Parts: sequence; structure tokens; C-alpha cells
Amino acid sequence: MRSKIVAGNWKMNKNLDETRTLLAEISAKLPDTSAEVMVAPPFVNLNGAVNALDSSVIEVVAQNMHFAENGAYTGEISANMLLHIKVHTVLIGHSERRAYFGETDELLARKVAAALAHGMRVIFCFGEELEERKTGRHFEVVKRQLKNALFPLEAVVWKSIVLAYEPVWAIGTGETASPEQAQEMHAFIRQTITERYDHTIADAVSILYGGSVKPNNAKEIFSKPDVDGGLIGGASLVADDFTAIVGAI
Ligand code: PEP
Repeated sequence: MRSKIVAGNWKMNKNLDETRTLLAEISAKLPDTSAEVMVAPPFVNLNGAVNALDSSVIEVVAQNMHFAENGAYTGEISANMLLHIKVHTVLIGHSERRAYFGETDELLARKVAAALAHGMRVIFCFGEELEERKTGRHFEVVKRQLKNALFPLEAVVWKSIVLAYEPVWAIGTGETASPEQAQEMHAFIRQTITERYDHTIADAVSILYGGSVKPNNAKEIFSKPDVDGGLIGGASLVADDFTAIVGAI
């Protein structure tokens, strides 16, 4: 059975004090849920967040990592460093990393492989840009992203992969994919995984939707059969909104 997940991507927001305050608010308001709940603060606050959430059901995850073990990669963070502070899950491939930091499918494939080799769980983000959807190339683009970064992987590691379909035109824009558009793409993703691997793997992988999920649209999006939760940006920075979205699942 695949798990339901709501993950908050805080991006480059909140200092350490603000991190502790927001986590305390989220913890106080968190509804009872069988879903996994995750937050991804900036690197510098991960350790503080892990300590603040000691004995909480909320998992702290990283927004990025480097593929190398260690070495001359100024400004970068390795899997071992994350594991050492008890961070076991990492977002890889967020569209902002692709767009602003030039992360290519090939680079992302290396990051994914490195994280999995360290026994980490990967939340792999991907999705088409506006122009690609307008010109009807969204399925082709999504298939290529999966093929390049994930399909070289052995079937056995798929138990450690979560997918986050995030159409770029819906991220931070207030424009959401309709629940039908999300369902259509998630079903396509499962079909594509079935073709490369098999039904068992395709059915077991959690596929999150990301892109302007808010308390007022979460329930409808999450009600779709192939949508297993959400990756939440802006709304994850407001405790009432984030916990309402958790409640919607
Ligand atoms: C994101 O950055 O992953 C995201 C989905 O952002 P937002 O919810 O703000 O669109």
C-alpha cells in the first residue's frame, strides 16, 4: 500500500528562531492523520528542526544534496552530512533547482543514485513548463524527465522513491492544475512506470501533486485516485494553512 504524504517545502524562508516557532505552531495544530507529514527547512536549520521535532511524527527532510561523498564542492552538502543529523529524506529535482541552478536530468540522476546508495528516501520533483503544456508536449516532457533520472535505476530501489509531479506553471503562481489535470498526469506517470517496470512498482509508488495547493483546493485534488498527497510551497509557511492541508488528506 502506498503512503499518503504531505510535505512542506520551505525554500529559502525562515531563520532558526522562526523555524522553531513555525514548527511549534504546526505541531500544536496538526490534526490526527495516518498521512506522513514532512517539512523541508533550509540546510542551516535542519539540525535545529530535527531537535525541535524530536519524538514528533513530523519528519524533517532536505531540499537538496550533492552527489559526491565529500570534497571540493564549495557550498554543497552531502548525503552523509544529512544522515549524521538524522535527515533521511531529500527533495531532488525541484523546478527552482533546475531553472535557477542549471540542474539537468543527468545531474539529477547522479544525485538520486547517490541518495539511494546511502539508503535515503528521495522525493523526486518534475513537471512541464507552461509552453510545453500549451503546445501539448507535457506527457512527452514528463516521460523524458522520468526516463533520464529514474529509469536507469534497479526495481528494488523504488521502495525508497516518492514522486512529486509539479507543473512549473502552477508553482507559486496561484494557478493550480485542475484535479482532472493532476489525475490525468498521475495516471500517465503510473502507466509509464508500469511500461518500464511493472504494475506492482507503479501501484506502490506515492505520487504527490505540487503547485499552489491551498486549504481551499487540497481536498478536491487529494480525492483523485492517483494523487497520494502534496508537496506544498507557500502554504507550508503558514501553520493554519499547512495543517488544514494535512487535514484535507
Ligand atoms: C513548490 O515549490 O514545490 C510548490 C508547490 O510551491 P507552491 O505550493 O507555492 O506553488
